[in-house]
Amino acid sequence: MPARPTPYLDGLNPDQRAAVETIDGPVLVLAGAGTGKTRALTARIAHLLNTGRAQPNEILAVTFTNKAAREMKDRIGQLVGGRIEGMPWLGTFHSICVKLLRRHAELVDLKANFTILDTDDQIRLLKQLIRAEDIDDKRWPARMLAGLIDRWKNRAWTPDKVPASEAGAYNNRGTEFYEQYQERLRILNAVDFGDLLLHVVRIFQENPDVLEKYQRWFRYILVDEYQDTNIAQYLWLRLLAGGHKNICCVGDDDQSIYGWRGAEVGNILRFEKDFPGATVVRLEQNYRSTPHILAAASGVIAANEDRLGKTLWTDAAEGEKVRLIGHWDGEEEARWIGGEIEAYQRGTRGLAPYPLDDMAILVRASFQMRAFEDRFLTIGMPYRVIGGPRFYERMEIRDAMAYFRVVVSPDDGLAFERIVNVPKRGIGDKAQAAINQVARLNGVSLLEASRILLAEDGLRGKAAGELRALIDSFDRWSALLQQGELNHVELAEVILDESGYTEFWKNDKSTEAPGRLENLKELVKALDEFENLQGFLEHVSLVMENEQEEGTPKVSIMTLHGAKGLEFPVVFLPGWEDGLFPSQRSMDENGLKGLEEERRLAYVGITRAERHCTISFAANRRVYNQWQSSLPSRFIDELPPQHVEVLTPPGLYGGGFGAAAPAAEAIPGIMRGSDLEERATRADVYNSPGWKRMQTRAQQPRGMAQPREARNMVIDAEAVSAFEIGERVFHQKFGYGAVVGIEGDKLTVDFEKAGTKKVVASYLSAEDS
Ligand code: ATP
Ligand code: MG
Repeated sequence: MPARPTPYLDGLNPDQRAAVETIDGPVLVLAGAGTGKTRALTARIAHLLNTGRAQPNEILAVTFTNKAAREMKDRIGQLVGGRIEGMPWLGTFHSICVKLLRRHAELVDLKANFTILDTDDQIRLLKQLIRAEDIDDKRWPARMLAGLIDRWKNRAWTPDKVPASEAGAYNNRGTEFYEQYQERLRILNAVDFGDLLLHVVRIFQENPDVLEKYQRWFRYILVDEYQDTNIAQYLWLRLLAGGHKNICCVGDDDQSIYGWRGAEVGNILRFEKDFPGATVVRLEQNYRSTPHILAAASGVIAANEDRLGKTLWTDAAEGEKVRLIGHWDGEEEARWIGGEIEAYQRGTRGLAPYPLDDMAILVRASFQMRAFEDRFLTIGMPYRVIGGPRFYERMEIRDAMAYFRVVVSPDDGLAFERIVNVPKRGIGDKAQAAINQVARLNGVSLLEASRILLAEDGLRGKAAGELRALIDSFDRWSALLQQGELNHVELAEVILDESGYTEFWKNDKSTEAPGRLENLKELVKALDEFENLQGFLEHVSLVMENEQEEGTPKVSIMTLHGAKGLEFPVVFLPGWEDGLFPSQRSMDENGLKGLEEERRLAYVGITRAERHCTISFAANRRVYNQWQSSLPSRFIDELPPQHVEVLTPPGLYGGGFGAAAPAAEAIPGIMRGSDLEERATRADVYNSPGWKRMQTRAQQPRGMAQPREARNMVIDAEAVSAFEIGERVFHQKFGYGAVVGIEGDKLTVDFEKAGTKKVVASYLSAEDS
């Protein structure tokens, strides 16, 4: 038989080839950013297909986002000459688990048409449970409980497996509510994101025959971005790979940025233990970035103590240094970046023009996007927000989808509750309370409870008539769905019309109403791209990023977290200010660990850039409607000066404010040259005349009070305690109390219930926060 061509091996270096061609047994590829891990993984799939080792549906490949899955599919198609029919098991953990769970829902007491709840639904449900127990949900917020349950699920702890050390959580009632919550979900025929994995893990653990079937079925398992898997995902992988052990994971410990969501970088170390004899491949050549960019990124990440450490090199042409610039405020930063993007587009500084698709702005927090969106709308710059405020999160869209959800899954109580009185039809709080009660007493869904209530004559007057009409409507729509005479797009229109929902917005005289009607139209349009309603609802609950319109080139705006795995020739990294980046919250909550995760995020950010990387910061920023003056990020101090070019801010020292102080004055560390030992301390920076001037000006024109956050700033690596003697604080385990002593980061707190205890500051939050 003539050898089939192997274009996917072309140009791979020997280490990459090892990752591709070591087919049997466990393989771990551990390598830095841009070294071709994803490329090797893709080539490996092509190789498996090309050599006939596996059919497309026998390969289980996990990517971090749906978008990454789509791209990988396209690429594999190209590599093997379009000979694949599709790869049904290439997707995110969640999307793969949805499929598995639908097949075996009955094994965990669910029906195959279960609904997937998003965070909002989850919190509404928990709120109901909390209120039913007469607990003050201001003091014990549902969000806190939701976070707790998520955390437990990430660790694969079902209610019976939550360890005793967690018993104090949520005022000693965490596990109890967790149990109640799971029971409610079962009755609602619903799951949350964490359940998608946990249920499947449970199915595998309790049904060896099912597990064996899939172990045989998925002959090869591949995982990208392995450093960001959590324990539940790891267990899931270990179960599936348990038979043949043909599992290949690729990752980079320096890019582990989802610790806050339960990711365990320790899974990398665990891999070699659980799969003894694993082939470990290290890739060291970076193919993505210029030497200056790579050196800047390496310089920053070197400050982390907790890392495996690795070598990275590139033979790319030298290119420009990383550019650094300070601005007066966030608006000016956005204005300047807008101008720079136009310049790159035209061809600036003797560079060839770059199309907009080649450029990205990566922010730490999504609120930063607004300034860019406003600016780009003003100058008519096409942009796309990836993973930002999503279309599907708009109120009218959520309402409409709640109707669809009840039609598809009549047990979906949260959806039912959302629209039972939207538009207002006289089924008020009292009627709803009655429905809820019947549902609780009988252990049935809200829709079922409504039927019982009406049959028993438990509701009178207008409410009864309206509820009956609504239920009749749902029955009619469900019947239409079953009969399949109308297609799902037509059905959606019928539902929106007959429910009075479209009419409701037509009659609304507010300024947003026309936009909402447009959105509803857009929703129906979006439906058309799916085979059926259920497929659409599933898609919506899984969508991680905004749909991108094809066609016109656009600048991308996204969070640093969302940019993982991506690359762009031109990258802007705005908002490098202490408190914003590194984020104060992550430092408060997780101390040094939090700071190190932020630093990895900085590393991820810089390493997205292929040729041009511009870092910027602003001296003033409006954060949730409060003006704050800010200091440049400590990560700026960590950039190796010889790889950085400091630009003179246009508004800050020039034009607007007269005095043309050089940027050097503000950032002496960077400007002092290459000797790291000689770099000025942060204190020098803040005492420098340029910086002081900037700070004074920052505060004067706005006349804003110094916000609370300013107290929490960490200056020159010496933590100034965020708390004061006498301050009221809250501790996850011990509850409320008052600070009576401070010793470094250890505080003595007089707790109302638990007595006097010494606790670490990072576990405390101020009572009012
Ligand atoms: P990250 O850690 O950011 O996910 P990665 O290790 O997955 O990065 P890839 O995205 O696979 O890296 O590759 C980075 C870039 O280098 C891509 O543009 C890829 O096409 C290119 N590349 C990878 N390997 C080679 C190679 N052997 N020759 C030329 N280019 C390569
Ligand atoms: Mg990658």
